[in-house]
Amino acid sequence: MIRFGPAGIPIGTPGEGTGAGIAYCRQIGLGAMEVEFVHGVKMGEPAARDAGAVARKNDVLLSCHAPYYINCCAKEELKLAGSVRHIVSTAQAAFWLGATPIVIHPGFYMGRPAAECRKMVISTLRRCLDEMERRKISGVQLGAELTGKKSAYGSLDEIIGLAEEFGAKQAVPVIDFAHYHAREARLKTQEDYARILDKVEKRLGSSASRSFHCHFSGIEIIEAGEKNHLPISSNSPPFEPLARAWVENGWSGKAICESPLLEKDALEMQKIYNKVEEKNRDSAP
Ligand SMILES: [Zn+2]
Repeated sequence: MIRFGPAGIPIGTPGEGTGAGIAYCRQIGLGAMEVEFVHGVKMGEPAARDAGAVARKNDVLLSCHAPYYINCCAKEELKLAGSVRHIVSTAQAAFWLGATPIVIHPGFYMGRPAAECRKMVISTLRRCLDEMERRKISGVQLGAELTGKKSAYGSLDEIIGLAEEFGAKQAVPVIDFAHYHAREARLKTQEDYARILDKVEKRLGSSASRSFHCHFSGIEIIEAGEKNHLPISSNSPPFEPLARAWVENGWSGKAICESPLLEKDALEMQKIYNKVEEKNRDSAP
């Protein structure tokens, strides 16, 4: 089973705030939501615990997105320390919310070889995990995201590598299929998607296919990679072949919709997925 949800509070939410957004997700039939801290973590403990209670009551699974201004392979210690602070405060809020994983854009190459960046990203994430342990933050995985810009650390191989380094309890890869489409290779067919799923399963084991977390949207592409996120109807990349690959390979987890239409497109993805699943059930012997 795969749950779908918007990246942030749904556009049509009546009222305000994270709790209202979560309740609205359930009301319209969605089972997941990503809480966006992309411009900083401003949620205190009481608000986070309240929103977490709304999520549990409504059976909506939460994840969080860490601030954009993180660079785990920055050249200056000050920026590294700032990145650790942002990641740990996101993890703290996620712990209060009962959310996992926290999605992180790992960093930028800035002209350096990937191997050098990898070492730095690992050491920075290890600092985060140490600090999380000190604060008794448990059950929150770091989710390095597949990034859409070629200048950013975070290819498919790189984010799988980070998950291998820390293990599934502490880190999971967050595949953003639109970013993959922009950065690595164009996605068209079910086989294109199945190759990605195979690679993840081969390197991280079947646990990676049982509770994955991913992002999906349409995307506008320029030479450097991603430009804008687009609605699902752009078909760039197409969603249906991914739904078929998930169903045929028995994947379950959550898919967060980052299209500008948020919950409307999350519902559209869910509808397409349900149709594929139904067809698959009907054709089973
Ligand atoms: Zn992101």
